[in-house]
Order: sequence, then C-alpha cells, then structure tokens
Amino acid sequence: MNLSPEQIQRYARHIMLKEIGGPGQQKLLGAKVAMIGAGGLGGPAALYLAAAGVGSIRLIDDDDVSLSNLQRQILFSSEEVGLSKVQCGEKRLTSLNPDCKVSAVNHRFAPENAAECIGDADFILDGSDSFQTRFDVNQFCHENNRTLISGAVGRWTGQVSVFKSGRPKNEDAQDKLPCYRCLTPQLPETEVSCAEIGVIGPLTGIIGARMAMETVKEITNAGQSMAGRLWIYDALSGDSRNIKLPVDPACPCCSSN
Ligand SMILES: [Zn+2]
Repeated sequence: MNLSPEQIQRYARHIMLKEIGGPGQQKLLGAKVAMIGAGGLGGPAALYLAAAGVGSIRLIDDDDVSLSNLQRQILFSSEEVGLSKVQCGEKRLTSLNPDCKVSAVNHRFAPENAAECIGDADFILDGSDSFQTRFDVNQFCHENNRTLISGAVGRWTGQVSVFKSGRPKNEDAQDKLPCYRCLTPQLPETEVSCAEIGVIGPLTGIIGARMAMETVKEITNAGQSMAGRLWIYDALSGDSRNIKLPVDPACPCCSSN
C-alpha cells in the first residue's frame, strides 16, 4: 500500500516523526479499531484516531444523543439531540477523514454479541460506563488476544491503561502482563456513574485523547507501551502519576489456577 500524494500531504506531520514515518502511517491506515461507547471518552478518542488516519473504526453504542451529553461529548452537536450516537459519529468521522471507514454498531456490548460487535478489530478502546461491561470487554480481549486500551473518568479524576494479557508471550510467566481484573477483581458493591457523581467536561477530552495516544503507540510500536502501568490524573491538583500494575496470581480472568 503506497501513500497517495494527498495522503502524504494530510499526514505530513506524522511522516516527519522518526517513530512514525511512512511505514508507521501505513500501519495506522491498515489498523482496525473498535470503540466500546461513543460518549465522553469514545468521542475524542475516535476523532483523534480518525484524524490520525486509522483505517477502520467500529463505533459500538446503543444510546441516542441527549442534551446532558453535550457538556462533554464533542462528537455531537445540538441539532443531533435524539439521534443515534453511532450514526452521528459515523457521519462526523467520515467527513473528518474519508480514509477512515467507520462502522456504526447500534448495540450495547455484551458477551452474547461480543464477536459481532468487535469483528476483526485488533485494538479495543473501552470507554464504557459500567464495571460489568468492562469485565466483559476484558474477558473478550484476554480470550481473543486483542489489545485493550482502557479509560475511565469520574468527577475530577481519570485513568488510562493498556492491557495485553492474552498476548502469546504471556506463556512465559516472566513476561506475563496484567489484565483489567488484576486491577479490579470484583464488581464494586455500589456502582456510581457520571450521571450520579458528575464529571468535569474537559477531563473526558484529556482521558479520551490519551486513549487515542496509547492506541497510536500500540499500532505503530512507538515508545513504551502502557501495558503493566496505570496512569492516574487528578485535574483539581493538576498532578498525574504512573503506578505499576502487578499480575494477580488469583485473577478471576487471566490466572491459570
Ligand atoms: Zn488478570
């Protein structure tokens, strides 16, 4: 696959980066990504990935746009209140970059329809709003050896990590990488959503963009993977930190015991 003169112009700022270059841009154009949730995190992540030239994006969400989404969900406009999120998203991303083939999957991700939702996407971004969905996505990614880029927000704090627990090199215990359930083994007793506790709008942009950033790095093998590390950002203090994520030998998902 050669880049057309128009693509060389469109992606010029990527191509001049030594970690991306023409080969990295071609990897982006050939990459298949699925987005669980097209809301506060999925929106900015999808916009940046489409702009970056990711060749295939599946948007998975069964919600319609509501007025209370617009404080942070920059994929949508006021005229789109009441319309399907994935259909509005498809329109917006396709107009941003015709190189990006967008599939609108108007379903809520569940174990029964996981394969249908994800299709052949290699990189799965989870910006969903329920722990059960996060557990189900993690299980699918572990069993089917997909790279999971996970983001979460609440009030003024957010976090991002990458999980590659299903990778073949995991056979070797020394190389074993954690999965999402090594971090969160059980469902919390009470689940709180952004609808109940609130979330500051620009935070979803920071976390969504960071998810897109880590996805671009995973696709192109640029820099150091976040697998095995968790990035935590506190918007009120302005502080962020990385913590190491150990493999839980008793993990309900990835442990062989
Ligand atoms: Zn695990």
